[in-house]
Amino acid sequence: MRIVVTGGAGFIGSAVVRHIIRDTDWTVANVDKLTYAGNLESLGEARTSNRHRHYKVDICDRPAIDAVLAEVQPEAVLHLAAESHVDRSIDGAAPFIETNVGGTYTLLEAVLAYWRTLDESARARFRFQHISTDEVFGSLGATGRFTETTPYAPNSPYSASKAASDHLVRAWHHTYGLPTLATNCSNNYGPYHFPEKLIPLIIIRALRGESLPVYGKGENVRDWLHVEDHAEALTLVLRRGRPGETYNVGGDSERRNIDVVRSICRLLDELAPENLHRPHESLIRFVTDRPGHDARYAIDASKISSELGWRPRHDFDSGLRDTVRWFLDNRDWWGRVMSGAYRGERLGLG
Ligand code: NAD
Repeated sequence: MRIVVTGGAGFIGSAVVRHIIRDTDWTVANVDKLTYAGNLESLGEARTSNRHRHYKVDICDRPAIDAVLAEVQPEAVLHLAAESHVDRSIDGAAPFIETNVGGTYTLLEAVLAYWRTLDESARARFRFQHISTDEVFGSLGATGRFTETTPYAPNSPYSASKAASDHLVRAWHHTYGLPTLATNCSNNYGPYHFPEKLIPLIIIRALRGESLPVYGKGENVRDWLHVEDHAEALTLVLRRGRPGETYNVGGDSERRNIDVVRSICRLLDELAPENLHRPHESLIRFVTDRPGHDARYAIDASKISSELGWRPRHDFDSGLRDTVRWFLDNRDWWGRVMSGAYRGERLGLG
């Protein structure tokens, strides 16, 4: 299969490309503008595979997207490109609206035009798969889980922009018949996670002996999904999902943020005994809560499990241990991100 992956140099997109190159015989056209979050070094060996090619293209650039589609003649598009960091969306929503809403619209229009050029059987086989977040459903109380029919109630500029993109995808299916699939997943973690997100941020700051900032009292609950389980779920939905449907993907691993941070500290005490900053828990500092911080997210993944037979392979405790070990073993990768060397510039992260 020839497939276009947008955002394939990001955290989840790179895991999807690595999985496709390793476990299938598909070819991947990786459409990624390489924002600060895009890093081709996250592709590992997949980067140099002759079944992978990177196109440095903005999904908002219609002529460039048209040219990629005409050249690649894809049988599917997996759409992951997005601005993805909630805190950045609070500081400035414009890029979120441009890429997540405007870019998804431009991509849908380009793909629809391309899809209409295909013959009938290729049109029937084609898939446009949109990757989204459980944050579109808003915040849960102490009980209950998000299902595919939970009403949308996004609370941050990021989740509002993703909600808008989900609605566009739905409309392009219902109005124009484009064979779309959509997934909404919980918080991902794992190797190559960009160091602004909670788990890598805590690991790296603890290794450097820096304070470990935790919003509020750390009581917000997230459901954690290993990025490799997510990548497998996405290719399964692509192969077997029903057009027009959405699927929730979750790790069945709810944890309070403070418990995740404490677990990382204990793992570092054990796995990095040479580090001078033990016990790492002494570095924890509670900071003013994020505005509009959702209390709890939890995913009911029974639809993807019963219809497609998907289940996460990683349990959170061993997945977190492997992730901490990966960051200890791959200091070069995150060192180049922190210094800005991966972009040939200083980012001011570290
Ligand atoms: P990321 O920020 O790590 O990567 C995003 C990628 O998109 C980067 O490589 C970036 O260069 C690229 N990109 C951004 N704007 C672009 C544009 N205009 N044109 C082309 N490329 C562009 O994000 P991620 O964590 O890998 O998330 C991937 C997708 O999954 C996103 O759609 C996100 O909303 C969704 N998602 C992420 C999580 C999570 O926990 N990380 C959870 C739920 C859903």
